Amino acid sequence: MKIAQMPESVNVNGTEYRWPRRPVVVVCIDGGDPAYLRHYLAKGAIPNIARFMQRGFAALADGTMPSFTCPNNMSIITGTPASKHGISGNFYLDTATGRPVVMTGPELLRGDTILSRFAAAGAKVVSITAKDKLRRQLGKNLDLSGGNVSFSSEYADRCTMAENGIENVLEFVGATQPDMYSEALSLFVLDAGIKLLEQSQRDLMYLSLTDYVQHKHAPGEDDARRFYDALDERFGRLEALGAVVALIADHGMSDKADAEGQPNVIWLQDVLDARFGKGDAIVICPITDAFVAHHGALGGFVRVWCRGKATAGEIIDAIHGIPGIEAALDRETACARYELPADREGDVAVIAAANTCIGASATDHDLSGLAGHRLRTHGGLSEATVPFIISQPLNDAFRLRASTSRLKSYEIFDFALNGVAV
Ligand SMILES: [Zn+2]
Repeated sequence: MKIAQMPESVNVNGTEYRWPRRPVVVVCIDGGDPAYLRHYLAKGAIPNIARFMQRGFAALADGTMPSFTCPNNMSIITGTPASKHGISGNFYLDTATGRPVVMTGPELLRGDTILSRFAAAGAKVVSITAKDKLRRQLGKNLDLSGGNVSFSSEYADRCTMAENGIENVLEFVGATQPDMYSEALSLFVLDAGIKLLEQSQRDLMYLSLTDYVQHKHAPGEDDARRFYDALDERFGRLEALGAVVALIADHGMSDKADAEGQPNVIWLQDVLDARFGKGDAIVICPITDAFVAHHGALGGFVRVWCRGKATAGEIIDAIHGIPGIEAALDRETACARYELPADREGDVAVIAAANTCIGASATDHDLSGLAGHRLRTHGGLSEATVPFIISQPLNDAFRLRASTSRLKSYEIFDFALNGVAV
């Protein structure tokens, strides 16, 4: 119930968001490629998602490029493209020091999160993420003293009131600490969200999952089907608790192995070292994070920084024509085409085709974590199309907008708050 002194709307980074009349829950299905939904809908499974799509709204949207987790979560939570929020990967090269810099600190995120602005206006907000690497940016400037909550299931067992706005989370959810590499890490996020919604009034929730299952399993595999059944059941419970449920993904997922099951990899650092001399150009893989067992730090997008004599144009010429490369773009073109922040872009952005991924040097990547699985990963254009689903029908204005323009995934809060018919 809206209290009299609450504002009608809240402005965040230039977009006016209507105050929610009932709880709004946005779920980011990490690695939630549209292929999973197509597969299960065709089989008559996932009945709650099917109902949202039929009675509410469903479309395909463009995610943020590169199609990685951090840039897309930041786009969704700020409602802006990467050119505004500044997070264009997990790493960029600091050209002053020549060192890769991790981009997960809140100080690197430009602008405000939708959650923090609503919290400042008096809303009760919740942010739960599977991996802790997203937590501090999602929780940027979020006041956790007044009943707001921000934590990761990765560190559910060490939450404190001061840091997370909640404690004793395992007891609260009634579960044990989920393993870092498990579907339970995602399901815990949803179970905690459901408990919080049951417990007291919440205005706005962002629940961000992890793509462990999608990296490992194609839509036709039983483990993926079980995971989606479990997600669907929880989405139904969120709706039954009175929430508007909005489903989005940060990126899709493509199989990038050959007929023998070996990864199709272009070792770009090795290619450039052979052509221009060792270290003349530096390849940075912005998918890299501390937990890479399920993808070996291989993705569909890398950046190249010129550090010696080779120019961007010469590097692009050297890359063009390599089978499995979709595009090699200079900084200006990449930033204009994909709304990227120029100060964190490489001299050359390189995008792989759907069935290929790009690494740095063969010796820098540990693929033992794949353990016989086909490599499934993301980062390129092939994985930048995501589902955009809302459990409720849209009002006329937003129906028109959706029918006349290609949606961006960062519009999901806009649609869930402003676009739902009341
Ligand atoms: Zn992801």
